[in-house]
Amino acid sequence: MLSITELPAFTDNYIWAIHDTQQAWVVDPGQAEPVQRWLASGGLKLRGILLTHHHGDHIGGVAALRTQFPGIEIIGPLAGRQAGTMPWLTQAVKDRDAVQLAPWGVTLQVLATPGHTLDHICYFAVGTADGTGIDSPALFCGDTLFAAGCGRLFEGSPEQMWTSLSVLAELPSATRMFCAHEYTVANLRFATHVEPANTRTAERLAACIALRAQGRCTLPSTIETELETNPFLRAGSAAEFARRRALKDVFRA
Ligand SMILES: [Zn+2]
Repeated sequence: MLSITELPAFTDNYIWAIHDTQQAWVVDPGQAEPVQRWLASGGLKLRGILLTHHHGDHIGGVAALRTQFPGIEIIGPLAGRQAGTMPWLTQAVKDRDAVQLAPWGVTLQVLATPGHTLDHICYFAVGTADGTGIDSPALFCGDTLFAAGCGRLFEGSPEQMWTSLSVLAELPSATRMFCAHEYTVANLRFATHVEPANTRTAERLAACIALRAQGRCTLPSTIETELETNPFLRAGSAAEFARRRALKDVFRA
C-alpha cells in the first residue's frame, strides 16, 4: 500500500509525497531541498513529479531534482508546455486524461480547474482497497481548493473558478483533499466571519488552532468537511462566489 506524506516547504507550502518504502513521486516540489532531505533520510528514490500549475513555489525544485534523478517522469499541464513555463515536462496532460504512476501502475485522473491560474489541473485517485495502491479516494488540488478556502484568482475569472470548484465538490465525499498550503486557520477565521451561524466551522477552527499549536499539519481535509465548512464551495452561485472571493482578498482577521 502507498503512503502519502507531507514535506513542508518555504513557510507554508506542502509538497506531497506518494510513496512506498523504496520509491516516491512528489507533487509540486517548489523547493528541491525538503524532497532531497526526506528521500535521503528514508533511502528512497524519486520516480516522478506531478505538477498542478506554473507558479514558482510549485515548480522551483524541478530543475535540481531532474539533475539529481535523470530520467524521472515529470507530468504537468499541457497549457504549461504551450506557454513555455514547463519545458522539461515528459508528459503534458489535459482535462480527463489518465496518468500512471510507475512502478505501481496507480492511475490518477486529471481534472482541469482553471481559476487560480489558467493552466491549473488537479489529480484524482479513485483509491483501491486491495492493498496495491492508494487505499481510498485522494485529490491533489494544488492552489485550487484549500482547507476552508480557495486560491486567489490570478488569471481566471470568478465564473471559471466556480465551475472548477463545482467539479471538485462532486467527487466522492470521503475523498481526502491534499492541497499545497497550510492556510487552514486563516481561512477558517474568514469562514466564521462569512457564516457566523455555521457551528461546524467554529468547531473546525478550534480544532485546527489546537493542531497548529502542536506544530501539526491540518491536512488532509475531505470533500465532506469542505462541503460543510468551506465558504467558497458553499457559495451556491458564481455571483456569490465572486462576492466572497473579493471579500476574502481584503479580509484581515
Ligand atoms: Zn499558485
